[in-house]
Amino acid sequence: MGARKKKWAKLPPDNTICQMSQYIKNLKVPIAIVGMGKSGDAAKRLLIACGVSSENILTFDGKLDSANYSDASKLMSEGKPQTLVVSPGVPLAAPWIKDAQSKGIAITSEISLACSCLSTEKLIGVTGSVGKSTTVSLIQAGLEAFSKTGFVGGNLGIPFASYAADVVEKKRPVADWVVLELSSYQLENCAGLQLDHSAITYFTSNHLERYDSIEHYYQTKWNILGITRKTMLLNSEGGDLIEYSKGKTPTPQLKIISKNDSDLQSYQLQKAQLIGQHNQDNLALATALCREAGWPNSAIEGMKNFKGLSHRLENLGSIKGVRFINDSKATAMDSVVIAATAASDTLVSGGTLFQLLGGRDKNLPWEQLSTLSKLPRAEFVFFGECRQVAQTKSGLAGNSFARLDEAIEYVLSKVKSGDTVLLSPGGTSWDEFKSFEDRGDFFKRKVAEFSTL
Ligand code: ADP
Repeated sequence: MGARKKKWAKLPPDNTICQMSQYIKNLKVPIAIVGMGKSGDAAKRLLIACGVSSENILTFDGKLDSANYSDASKLMSEGKPQTLVVSPGVPLAAPWIKDAQSKGIAITSEISLACSCLSTEKLIGVTGSVGKSTTVSLIQAGLEAFSKTGFVGGNLGIPFASYAADVVEKKRPVADWVVLELSSYQLENCAGLQLDHSAITYFTSNHLERYDSIEHYYQTKWNILGITRKTMLLNSEGGDLIEYSKGKTPTPQLKIISKNDSDLQSYQLQKAQLIGQHNQDNLALATALCREAGWPNSAIEGMKNFKGLSHRLENLGSIKGVRFINDSKATAMDSVVIAATAASDTLVSGGTLFQLLGGRDKNLPWEQLSTLSKLPRAEFVFFGECRQVAQTKSGLAGNSFARLDEAIEYVLSKVKSGDTVLLSPGGTSWDEFKSFEDRGDFFKRKVAEFSTL
């Protein structure tokens, strides 16, 4: 499932391996894969697994040298593709793609190719401006609690076409459930996709470089309703989502989910490992999906035990009564404020929140952090290249250190039971580390050392 590697010991004898897709067999060749990222690679593998000869597959990518073509006009004039498999990163509105379409060249996608290979799988799709990965990961934790064959992927983790190729190549059994994270780009080009259940997490303005208006962007996501057979769930706290839904024709499929719904109370979702009110919303949505899908209660327990994606408000647990939270990925002020508020909620009576802020500046609006001065019992500790800028612009009081390890040492010398230590730095990691993962792993090592002191 998901990013985890699984060995399929032995395929069950009654396993229904899907037949080679008639849809793929009927595609006119040559077929050009437009955009050779992860999903493009997976699409190529699936085409080959379904019997398309590699000579009939052309690859195009504006940036990657490994592709056959990097110039669209050359691809069309020399390669003469009859089908384009367009990756989500490439807008369908690009003039050369529109031109190809008007000339009768078929347009498809990695998602459509994968769908044509499905047999008995039941499908769940999740979209939204924010909260997709967290909600899908929660659902994954739920699925893993009871399913031996489930697949989770799409925009997050493993591309859908990789799953389909594995099934066609008999490397894995057919999944009982397929859970897909779907971006708005994927929803623009997903003919053949039929979901049993779906959910929208949140609507807020995003990707307006690709859409001509916010209405267009929201409508693209809302289109998930048209491909949902049974129920579509909406997060009641989903930004513009509920207001947007009011303007649409009501359908029996739609349900609005709130963490305060009485039928969710018995699950005691507030006891979940994942911290933050926004994650309670994500958990409520995931739990409601679980119930719609008829999953066992063990799935909901699995979701409650999910500790968060690495480096994203990741709950490292309590050591000597001190809670540690790794949010090393947070380099946007919104995320830092959400993390600080969520971490503040975890304080045990009389505890203090120590928040590590700093790293490298990318001209960030640190002023937005001034609101954190309202948090009760919070101490800010600045570190790294931008420590002075961050402190001056935010106006927050606190000690300041040149390096993250010095800042951590200081915090560890002061903490006591009931406190929470949060790394949600705001700045990028590149002043001291290769990546935010590297920085988060360093923090985790320091926390592990603290447990041995
Ligand atoms: P996506 O996959 O849609 O980009 P993530 O699940 O990775 O979203 O979350 C990205 C950030 O969005 C989180 O770090 C958090 O700050 C914010 N976020 C997540 N879920 C919600 C929610 N339900 N409401 C408000 N903000 C959220």
